[in-house]
Amino acid sequence: DPKRITRALLSVSDKTGLVDFARALAERGIELVSTGGTKRTLEEAGVPVRDVSDVTGFPEMMDGRVKTLHPAVHGGLLGIRANPEHQAAMLAHGIKPIDLLVVNLYPFEATVAAGRSYDDCVENIDIGGPAMIRAAAKNHGDVAVVVDADDYKAVLDDLSAYDGAVTLTLRRRLAQKAYARTAAYDAAISNWLAGEIGEAAPAYRALGGSIAEVMRYGENPHQAAAFYRTPEKRPGVATARQVQGKQLSYNNINDTDAAYEAVAEFAPERTAAVVIVKHANPCGVAEGASLREAYEKALRCDPVSAFGGIVAMNRPLDAEAARAMVEIFTEVIIAPDASEEAIAIVAAKKNLRLLLAGGLPDPRQPGLALRTVAGGFLAQGRDNAVVDDMDLKVVTKRAPTERELSDMRFAFRVAKHVKSNAIVYAKDGATVGIGAGQMSRVDSSRIAAWKAAEAARAAGLPESLAKGSVVASDAFFPFADGLLAAAEAGATAVIQPGGSMRDEEVIRAADEAGLAMVFTGHRHFRH
Ligand code: 5GP
Repeated sequence: DPKRITRALLSVSDKTGLVDFARALAERGIELVSTGGTKRTLEEAGVPVRDVSDVTGFPEMMDGRVKTLHPAVHGGLLGIRANPEHQAAMLAHGIKPIDLLVVNLYPFEATVAAGRSYDDCVENIDIGGPAMIRAAAKNHGDVAVVVDADDYKAVLDDLSAYDGAVTLTLRRRLAQKAYARTAAYDAAISNWLAGEIGEAAPAYRALGGSIAEVMRYGENPHQAAAFYRTPEKRPGVATARQVQGKQLSYNNINDTDAAYEAVAEFAPERTAAVVIVKHANPCGVAEGASLREAYEKALRCDPVSAFGGIVAMNRPLDAEAARAMVEIFTEVIIAPDASEEAIAIVAAKKNLRLLLAGGLPDPRQPGLALRTVAGGFLAQGRDNAVVDDMDLKVVTKRAPTERELSDMRFAFRVAKHVKSNAIVYAKDGATVGIGAGQMSRVDSSRIAAWKAAEAARAAGLPESLAKGSVVASDAFFPFADGLLAAAEAGATAVIQPGGSMRDEEVIRAADEAGLAMVFTGHRHFRH
């Protein structure tokens, strides 16, 4: 469905490539209309062009704030050519169609970057340009819109190939690019204003976020910060109802999210589960017949770190669990819901924040995960792989027992939520030692083993909690050493993705140590 171009409106701040492009259009017999500066450039180059004032019957006014904001322009861009009523309106009001719009905007971003005055920046907010771009892009069924000099060639190529017309394919592509440009332009203006009024952080409108609250500070007191909500439907810290307690800090929100996402791995109809998080890592995770039992098991893993932590659970908070939880200092409790009695028990701790999320997030739900890097950001799908869906392959001579297998699944579920390199020892549905965030896997193994021994010492137990445990690794063991460190600590079975060049060597070491080992085929890096 190529559309013939008979009339073009050109209004560009950046005149790069303008004259050659306009001349090529004029040579095809296309009538050109322009605003002041663009028209002058074309006239100086000897390209025939009409003044937009002739079209609107109005002079440019208010320092150029009003040049093209007129029905003669917008009607020409928006009128549907095949619609008789639109055609009649155009005829009645003397509106002539504009089939090609060429606009690049006032250099707002460059003005800000150059450190110019507030008033200069405001004056460089283009109004008529974005209005025309959006109008032309909406009517891409009839109109082609160019916002980037890089696309001049594509338009000329179409005009040559299709006898003075532009294809729907190109019109659509140009419309898509047009809206991306106006969205980025408005985001730049909003970000600049945010900085001017001392709002904490740039508004990531482009990501579909809306500001939920401005925090007193970020990860550290010298960092400004704000919390944005996206339209994603996912129960969690962004949507939870805060029943009581102080405002959440940046770190609270980050940690609460980590805790709630982790606990959601445990289906509430199967088991009660509790996750305690510190610095975005779980320091204790456990299943239990009740929330109270799960909490006490989770706490036993690392009671020192649990102090000042975040506690998340997968079932509504009940009174019995609440009574145990208020015994130590905790920053935040998050649950799907809570009983009246439990709420009253938590109320005794005025500063303790209680969040009710109204449901649990689905660990299999796809989603977007973002992180910034200098000059850009990385985007990836959420890690929604779940161990229950994985094909576990026994690779050792000894197959795991039922009890080992159940703890292995538990440990791998937890390992997904521990920063890499992650090593998780688990026993009887509870973590007993967690090694997080080390640069070498063997260090994580040793730390996890050491923590299991420490926890036993603290509890006055004679043997390390790792004795008779299973161990999970978020990624393959590149060497046998990490695995042997786990065996030495008392682990009897291993769950890991597999896939190392040295798998054979690692399997042999496991066999020699009498370990059972399964491969999941899935890695759970988390950085
Ligand atoms: P020129 O250099 O042709 O005088 O101006 C071109 C610039 O004016 C383009 O960046 C275009 O987006 C912008 N422009 C076109 N119409 C209007 C309008 O009605 N108001 C404002 N503020 N800018 C406009």
